Amino acid sequence: MANKPVNKVIIVGGGTAGWMAAASISKLIGKTVDVTLVESDEIGTVGVGEATIPSMLTLHQLLKIDERDFMAAVQGTFKLGISFENWKNLDENYIHSFGFTGKDCWAAGFQHFWLKGKQQGISSEFGDYCNELQAAKKNKFAVLPNNGMNYAFHMDAGLYAKYLRKIAEQHGCERIEGKIAKVITHADTGYIERLMLENGQTIDGDLFIDCSGFSGLLINKTLNTPYEDWTEFLPCDSAVAVQTRSIEEPIPYTRSIAREAGWQWRIPLQHRVGNGMVFCSKYLSDDEATHTLLENIEGELLTSPRMIKFTTGQRQQHWNKNCVALGLAAGFVEPLESTSIHFIQRGIIRLLQMFPTHGINQSDINEFNAQMKEEFLFVRDFIVLHYHVTKRDDTPFWRQCREMKIPETLQHRIDLFKESGRIFQKNNDIFTENSWSQVMLGQGIVPDEFHPIVNMMTDQELKAFLDSIKDSVNHLVDQLPSHQQFIERYCKAPQI
Ligand SMILES: Cc1cc2nc3c(=O)[nH]c(=O)nc-3n(C[C@H](O)[C@H](O)[C@H](O)COP(=O)(O)OP(=O)(O)OC[C@H]3O[C@@H](n4cnc5c(N)ncnc54)[C@H](O)[C@@H]3O)c2cc1C
Repeated sequence: MANKPVNKVIIVGGGTAGWMAAASISKLIGKTVDVTLVESDEIGTVGVGEATIPSMLTLHQLLKIDERDFMAAVQGTFKLGISFENWKNLDENYIHSFGFTGKDCWAAGFQHFWLKGKQQGISSEFGDYCNELQAAKKNKFAVLPNNGMNYAFHMDAGLYAKYLRKIAEQHGCERIEGKIAKVITHADTGYIERLMLENGQTIDGDLFIDCSGFSGLLINKTLNTPYEDWTEFLPCDSAVAVQTRSIEEPIPYTRSIAREAGWQWRIPLQHRVGNGMVFCSKYLSDDEATHTLLENIEGELLTSPRMIKFTTGQRQQHWNKNCVALGLAAGFVEPLESTSIHFIQRGIIRLLQMFPTHGINQSDINEFNAQMKEEFLFVRDFIVLHYHVTKRDDTPFWRQCREMKIPETLQHRIDLFKESGRIFQKNNDIFTENSWSQVMLGQGIVPDEFHPIVNMMTDQELKAFLDSIKDSVNHLVDQLPSHQQFIERYCKAPQI
C-alpha cells in the first residue's frame, strides 16, 4: 500500500494553495498523472493573501505565465517592498525593499562601508543606496531588462485562484465541487484511500495534497499530525480584513503600520485596497480591533469586516504518509513579510523534485520535511525580529514583545550583527544578508564595529564610492515612469 505507484493525485481545497498546486502539477507533469481538485463552495476560501515576494516570478516562469495577461486578470499592482511604519518607534518608518542596497565586496556586505561613512558623516540614509527603495518612495516603477528592478505583485486572491484554475483545467485537471464528509484510511498503514463527499460520491487517490486551509482536513483531522505552536514568539492570533474602493493611484509597496497591539496592512490593487489588522487577542478585543481598522482606512467599504483566528506555527510533518500539506494546512507564520504564498510555491517545487512516481519512500518524506521545516524556522526568526527589536514601550503588547524570550537562533543573529555588523545567509533562508541588514538597521540595531577591509579605502575614496552609488540610484529613478503610468501601458485591468 505504502509503496504503490502514484497515478492519481487528489488535491483537497480550491484556495490559492489548491489551485497553485493543481496548475503546477497538471502543467508540469500532467501527462504522467491524473489530477483532481475537490473544493466546497459552501466552505469557501480564507480570502486574504494578496501580497507576494519576488520568488513568485520563478513559479510563473515555470508555468510560462504571461506577466501582462496575469497582472490584468488579477487587478495586479507591482510591489517593491514593505513600508514598516511605527515599528521601531512611533512616527519612525523604514522600507524593507526587494532591491539590493549599495555594493558588497567579497569580505563584507555594503552595511560595513555605509557604517564607516556614517561615522565620518559622509553617508546618508541606508535606503538612499537602493534603486527599488527610492523608486518605492517616489511612487515610480518599470520592469527593467536583466532583472534591473526586483519586484513582486499585489493581486486579488479570488481572481488569482480563477486564473490558475483555467491553466489547471486546460492541462487536464478535473474539478469536483462538493463538501468532503469523510476520509477513509487503510486499516493497517493508515494511508488515505478515498474521500467521501456529502452527496455520497467517493474519490480514490494515491497521493493526497491537503490544501484545505486552517482546518487541515487530511493532515490534521485525519492523520493527527502534531502542530508546533509558536505563540510564545509570535503572540498575534487574530486578524480582521476589509476591502475598500481605491481613492488614489496605487503605490508600489505594501504598508505595514504598527498599532497598539498588532499591525495594519494596506495592499493596493488596481480596483480596490485590501486592508486588515493582525492583532493579539490578549490585549485587544475583536470589536476594538475592528473599530481601530475602520478608523484607519479610506474609501467606500466593499465588504463587511471579516474576523480570522489563527495559531502561528507549523506541522511537525508537512508530508505524512501519502498526504502532503500545502498552504494554511501546513502552517502559518504571520503575513508580515508576505511569505505564505512563497511557502506554497516552495512546497510545490520540492514535491515535483521528489515526486513519488514509483511509490512513496520514507527518505523522500524525511528530506521534504527537513527542508520545509528549516525554511519555516528561518522565516519565523525574521518575523520575530520585527516585533522584538523595537524601542516602543507605549503599550503592554509592545512591552511583551521587547521582553519576550526569542529563539536562540535569532538571538545569535542579533548578537552577531550588533557586535560586528555581520550576517550570513543560510541554506533555505529566503531572506538575503541585505534583507536582514535592512530590517536590523531599520529596527534600530547599530553595529558596534565595521569590517576592517573598509579601512583599505581612504575617506576620500569611500566618499567617492558612496556618492557614485547614490548618483546612479537617483539617475535611474528619475527616468522611471510613475507606477500608475507603467500599469496603464503594461497591464491595465478591465474595470469591475
Ligand atoms: C490575515 C491573513 C493575511 C494574509 N496575508 C498574506 C499575504 O499578504 N501574502 C501571503 O503570501 N499570504 C498571506 N496569507 C496567507 C494566505 O492567505 C494563504 O497562504 C493562502 O490564501 C492559501 O490559503 P489556502 O489555499 O491554504 O486555504 P483556503 O483559502 O482557506 O482554502 C481552503 C480550501 O479548502 C476547501 N475545503 C476545506 N474543507 C473542505 C471540505 N470539507 N470539503 C471540500 N473542500 C474543503 C475550501 O472550500 C477552500 O477551497 C494571509 C493569511 C491570513 C490569515
